[in-house]
Amino acid sequence: MILASMADNLGTFVDRRRLLSIAERLIAAPSPTGRAGDAANVLAAILADEGFSVDRPEAGHPKAPAVVARLSAASPGRTLQFEGHLDTVHLPFVPPRVDGDHLTGSGASDMKGGLAAAVEAMLAVRDSGALAAGTILLTAHDLHESPWGHGQQLDHMIDEGIVGEAVLIPEPLGDRLPIAGRGLACWEAVIRRPGLPIHEVLRPTNEPSVIEAGAELVARLARLDGRLAAEVHPIAGRASTFVGQIHAGDIYNGFPQICRLEGTRRWIPGTDAATVESEFRALANELARDSGAEVDLTYRFVRDAFTLDPAHPFVGIFQEAHQVISGRTLPTGPKPIADDGNTFFARARIPAITHGPRAGGQHTVEEWASIDDLVRLARLYALVAVLYGPSDPGAAS
Ligand SMILES: [Zn+2]
Repeated sequence: MILASMADNLGTFVDRRRLLSIAERLIAAPSPTGRAGDAANVLAAILADEGFSVDRPEAGHPKAPAVVARLSAASPGRTLQFEGHLDTVHLPFVPPRVDGDHLTGSGASDMKGGLAAAVEAMLAVRDSGALAAGTILLTAHDLHESPWGHGQQLDHMIDEGIVGEAVLIPEPLGDRLPIAGRGLACWEAVIRRPGLPIHEVLRPTNEPSVIEAGAELVARLARLDGRLAAEVHPIAGRASTFVGQIHAGDIYNGFPQICRLEGTRRWIPGTDAATVESEFRALANELARDSGAEVDLTYRFVRDAFTLDPAHPFVGIFQEAHQVISGRTLPTGPKPIADDGNTFFARARIPAITHGPRAGGQHTVEEWASIDDLVRLARLYALVAVLYGPSDPGAAS
């Protein structure tokens, strides 16, 4: 089998120790969202030491310029992008550690482990000389994790044309090939009354209770969520709204000034994101009118919904490579999270497949990734790149 021997040959160039060292160096550089500059510098240095010329576009975020490197074959062809975020959620820093097959530390799972595997895939393809045509474009950036970022650095990069023709994203999702996902917005509502905090028995009769108004918002959003249950996509699931936080008051008999709520709004493919936003804003305005309280709504579009045609040629190449590496193709299914893949569909109109390592503990201080599976991932990414680059996939053999 030509494909199997190609995979075997590529696999011999995937260096487990080099991969692990890249991952550990990336994890060792703390990079909470907005402050991923050190981790970006580490990645740029790794690539430069490997002989790549590295671009550092600011892409609207000069504190942490993005990292861009290319591996091009002698013959022109298609560009496959390996794309990852370097930032981590704002939790206490955990340094890298290896424990058997587990790599742990901040970002081990989300997503420095996967990004290291993508880098290793590019190095393995280079060392093998197997890329007959086309380019691997490696990109890494900050400002991914909400609510501290909302993907704006990646948006800039796409707008500046730093984009391939298809994208692989090594976020930790590996049990399915995601072909549909919901759009996401985060919202915060701050409900206020004008007066000062005061003992409840002295409360002014002409001022609204911000706690009652907050409770009313929760009730109205619950009714909205009930209606949204009817908006269902066969793969992506249902539209929703969700309240994750509510805070008000300092003491049991005080009349507070502020009630603050936060949550999400998700919509299904085919929904107009702008309409979703205007309906949500209208709901907040109605609450202000009905309650008499001031309602200050911050509504932040994060990423749009997407669908990927399972018959797309990129899916075919990915599944062919997966079959060779793992002995089976992946079942298709939903993508439960909204990630940068959604952005590539909506903003660049190109297909993106999220596929990463067996890993866990995302958004906790107990992140881990399977080192064996990172090696598998590097082999898979390398094979997809070698198959994808030549505009006629058959030319790779
Ligand atoms: Zn992530």
